[in-house]
Amino acid sequence: MNRNLLAVILSSAAFAALGPVGAAPATTTAPPPATLATVPAKSRAIDPLDRKVAALLAKMTLEEKVGQMVQWAHWAGKKRDMILEGTEKGHVGSLLNLIGAKETNEVQKVAVEKSRLGIPLIFGLDVIHGFKTIFPIPLGEDCSWDPELMEACAAVAAKEARASGIHWTFAPMVDVSREPRWGRIAEGSGEDPTLGSAMAAARVRGFQGGAKPALDRHDTVVACAKHYVGYGAPEAGREYNYTEITEASLRDIHLPPFKAALDAGVRTYMSAFNDLAGLPTSGNRHTLRDILRGEWGFKGFVVSDWASVAQLIPHGYAADLKDATQLGVLAGVDMDMEGKGYSEHLAQLAKENKVPLAMVNDAASRILKIKYELGLFEDPYVDEKMESATMLTAESLDVALRMAREAIVLLKNDKQTLPLSKDLKTIAVLGALAASKKDPLGSWHCQGKEADVVSVLEGLRRKLPRAQLNFVAGVGPEESVTDPKGIEEAVAAAKRSQVAIVVVGERENMSGEAASRTSLALPARQLDLVQAVHKAGVPVVLVLMNGRPLTIPWEAENVPAIVESWFLGTRQGDAVADVLFGDFNPTGKLVVTFPRNLGQVPIYHSARNSGRPAEDPNDKWTSRYIDSPNSPQYPFGYGLSYTTYTYSGLSLSAERIGRAGKVMVKATVKNTGSKAGVEVVQLYMQDPVASLTQPVKKLADFKRVELEAGEEKTVEFVLPASKLGFHNHAGKYVVEPGKFNVWVGKDSADATLKGSFELTAN
Ligand code: BGC
Repeated sequence: MNRNLLAVILSSAAFAALGPVGAAPATTTAPPPATLATVPAKSRAIDPLDRKVAALLAKMTLEEKVGQMVQWAHWAGKKRDMILEGTEKGHVGSLLNLIGAKETNEVQKVAVEKSRLGIPLIFGLDVIHGFKTIFPIPLGEDCSWDPELMEACAAVAAKEARASGIHWTFAPMVDVSREPRWGRIAEGSGEDPTLGSAMAAARVRGFQGGAKPALDRHDTVVACAKHYVGYGAPEAGREYNYTEITEASLRDIHLPPFKAALDAGVRTYMSAFNDLAGLPTSGNRHTLRDILRGEWGFKGFVVSDWASVAQLIPHGYAADLKDATQLGVLAGVDMDMEGKGYSEHLAQLAKENKVPLAMVNDAASRILKIKYELGLFEDPYVDEKMESATMLTAESLDVALRMAREAIVLLKNDKQTLPLSKDLKTIAVLGALAASKKDPLGSWHCQGKEADVVSVLEGLRRKLPRAQLNFVAGVGPEESVTDPKGIEEAVAAAKRSQVAIVVVGERENMSGEAASRTSLALPARQLDLVQAVHKAGVPVVLVLMNGRPLTIPWEAENVPAIVESWFLGTRQGDAVADVLFGDFNPTGKLVVTFPRNLGQVPIYHSARNSGRPAEDPNDKWTSRYIDSPNSPQYPFGYGLSYTTYTYSGLSLSAERIGRAGKVMVKATVKNTGSKAGVEVVQLYMQDPVASLTQPVKKLADFKRVELEAGEEKTVEFVLPASKLGFHNHAGKYVVEPGKFNVWVGKDSADATLKGSFELTAN
């Protein structure tokens, strides 16, 4: 459709009357847009904040409204004077990356006291896994499968950020990703939408002050679900690359965590960088208007990613910046992050009626409403005296330690190599990462400082102050270190020790944004280090520090104990030492599949079958490799503990249920070892015959269960019929009658407890 024609349609009376609920005409696959008649009477009742917004809007010039839709980064080539002047003139509604109570107050004062209407700025920042107290990278946090603790971590981050003048975090990052080459897999919840949804909701609650957002408190921030949508599936794992996602997969895999964030009250979204099947997401009306606003009724605002509207030009979607601006606004991007297009062209586009004025009013209103909700009109400043006292409190550091411990995944523990004895006298600590205080901070270290980090080496020292720690950096993840001496010294240190703890992996900047890799192996000569130390004959404990799944076939085969520690934040060393010496019994489970080799990628638990499944090992003509098993190194949901659990007694409450029914799935889990522990019990399901083929297994639910040694508990899951469906390619959610399979187990590969039931046609 011609864009200008679309602009005319969108400026229709119905759209203007609808305000925030208005929806653009749907594509052929999406349901019809909302009309006044379909908006429930309740949501038409006027919110008092809407009244305030409308009164303010009535006083604003077009340029001032556009100004609200502009966000600048304070350090991106802009001089302080320009920021102050722009603020005074109402050319900017938000700043990102300006941090500090004093610094933000200073600029806020200009907005409030010098600009014509005194509209406060909203200050945004990437508070991804902590502000000053740093938590594990999100991929690690999510291995806790602990939404409650997740909420507590986000609340700490919010409290610290707000004390420093920040109102808005660009988190949670809820992109589902099955692409380990992509560096930003570190920032999300991994491969699964069910777990991703639970964690997304927990983060939103934590940031915004609970189930009912309380943004005017001094310890909360507005959350932003990003990157909407599909950014986690870049072709070839290359950053910012094209994504090809069907409507069904978009809705079943990529959208659920975004919807969960909305259900938890998220007030903002960020449109993404990626081109989604030919329609770049920062100019995509279908996802932004039809789905987010039309179907879901989102009432907050959408910010672009950094210059992502301007990037519609290199995508090949817009001819120039004016064109890109028109596309961005028509699609539903309310605020332009560091993009120039809205500043330079939007007012003119509105004057030419190429962007309906109603749409500018709508976008500015959405932004102003959140400023009201934050209480910024009454209370625009932050208490400078409170700032430093709010940071790194003992309670916050304790939450960080709890999360760091729970993020750790025990991948291998042959012959109970772990936990190590505290009576050890000599321990070799090898690998450059062992002493690093920077890498534990992860790729979004925010205001985290190395000086506040406990390295692995320091954590071990704190744990065993009397033992002799023979530390040799040996080699690290840098290719440039080729001197064989490092490895020789490490081997010598190992020979002088009773055990060797080898810390290897990636530097923090090898994952995160713009950090795609074409190999998942340990970088540089770190495998040589591991092999040389192993050859020295000392028991080896491998501690991995990394931001993505790695391929570690040799290590998995030969090293007796492997601990995945990700980047754990401020308390890295304490958490690792607690696990290695048994003061914490590991509970973490992988949220992303570890492949055996890169050739298996993408590999994830909820794959579909082929027409020739590789069931018979002797049948060549099946879906398999000739040089690798199909199975992963470590499956989704996998993680060991220092105790053992047995699962038994699967029972289903019914053999048949109707469409309004539900089935209760029960199983008994027993701690059969000698230590208390927490087991993450997982429920998987399958719709084996459907009008659109379905995954062989997918996570349906999970529960953390605390068990004393010898104790057993019955775990119950409720599976309602309404959750048994899937989206078809027309974007419609369908629940089809027939047989369903369920499994309860310790990970996605555990097939011991299997049951089935039937969903009847009515
Ligand atoms: C990233 C976003 C981030 C933004 C602001 C972009 O490059 O993709 O995730 O929120 O920068 O820092």
